Amino acid sequence: MAFIDKILRKPSYGWQNENQELIVPTKAQLFNETLSRLNIFKSRKNWISLQTIVMIVCMVPFLFLFITQYFSWQLMIVVVLYSVIVMGTHGTIWFHRYCTHKAYKFSHPLWRFLTQHMVVKTLAEEIYVVSHHVHHSTSDQPGDPYNSRGGLWYCMLAEFNHQRVSPDLSEEEFSKVTRFMQHTGVKLNSFKQYRKWGSVGHPLYTIASWLLNWIFWYTLLYFIGGNALACAIFSSTLLWFIFVRAFNYTGHAKGKEKHIDGLDFDRSNLSVNQTRPGIFTGEWHNNHHLYPGSARAGFLSYQIDPAWIFIFCMYKVGVVSSFHDSKKEFLKKYVLTTNKI
Ligand SMILES: [Zn+2]
Ligand SMILES: [Zn+2]
Repeated sequence: MAFIDKILRKPSYGWQNENQELIVPTKAQLFNETLSRLNIFKSRKNWISLQTIVMIVCMVPFLFLFITQYFSWQLMIVVVLYSVIVMGTHGTIWFHRYCTHKAYKFSHPLWRFLTQHMVVKTLAEEIYVVSHHVHHSTSDQPGDPYNSRGGLWYCMLAEFNHQRVSPDLSEEEFSKVTRFMQHTGVKLNSFKQYRKWGSVGHPLYTIASWLLNWIFWYTLLYFIGGNALACAIFSSTLLWFIFVRAFNYTGHAKGKEKHIDGLDFDRSNLSVNQTRPGIFTGEWHNNHHLYPGSARAGFLSYQIDPAWIFIFCMYKVGVVSSFHDSKKEFLKKYVLTTNKI
C-alpha cells in the first residue's frame, strides 16, 4: 500500500470492496461512524472531532441572539458577504493554497500568523491539509475522503469519518505526514505525543489558538459595532463552517460527469469549474485540479479569482515573497492550441 493511501484513518465501513469499488455507506452507517468518532470516553484521540462539535455548539447562541435580538437587513447583508466572500476566500488563501499546496511563501512568519487569524477561527489545519493531499491523489476514487460518488452526507460528514489522520502510523510515516504541516506554523506533536493524542497538531496549541482568536475577534467586533455586529459575524462563521462541506460534493459535480467543453479541461476526475465558488472564493476547481500548486486558479479572462487578487496584493506590498502562477502554462496548453485548431 502506498504511503498516501494509509495516512487517513479508515472508516469502519471501509473505502472499497474486494473488487476495488467504492463502498457507499448508508446514512445510518455514516452517522454512526460520526458518533463513534466523537466519543471522547472511548478514546481521547477523538478530541479533534469533538472540538469541532463544541465549536459549532458554542456558535449557536450567537445565531440565536442575532435572529432574536439583533436582526436587521443591513446586518443580514454583512452575514452573507462575510460567509460567502470573506470566509470562503480566506479558506482558499489559507487552508487550500498556502497550507496544503504551498502555492506561495510569506516573507515573515508574522504575516503567516496574521493571515491565519484574519477571520474567526474554525477548522484545525491538519483536518484540511493532510486529507486534501489524499483527495488530489485519489480524486473520485475509493479512498478519496470526500468522494462525491459517496453522496452528499459522505462529504458533509467527511471531517469526522474520513479526514482524520490514521492513529496507526509508524514513526517514519508520522514524520512524513508532519512534512505536510511544517511550514504552517502550527505547533506539531512529537511522535510520542501523536501516539497519545492521535493528531498531528498539539491539542493545547489548537484549543488555545481557537480561544484567543475568538476573544480577539469578539472584542474587536464589539468595539466596532457592539454585540449586534459580533453576533452577526459569528453567525456568519457558523453558516460557512457548516455549508462549506457541501462544496466538496458540488465541486465534483455531485458524483456525476458534468464537464463542459471549453470550460472544464481536466477530465481525469469529476471536478468542475463552478461560477459562484469561482467568483466569490477563487475555487475554480477543475482548473485547480490541473494546476494544484498555482496561487491562481482563475485562468480564463472572466474567471475572477479573489483569492489570487489578495495573494498578488500581498506580494506587491512585500507580505508574500514568492508564488507559483500557472496561468501562462494553462493558456499555452489548453487555450492557444485549441484556438489554432
Ligand atoms: Zn477536488
Ligand atoms: Zn487542492
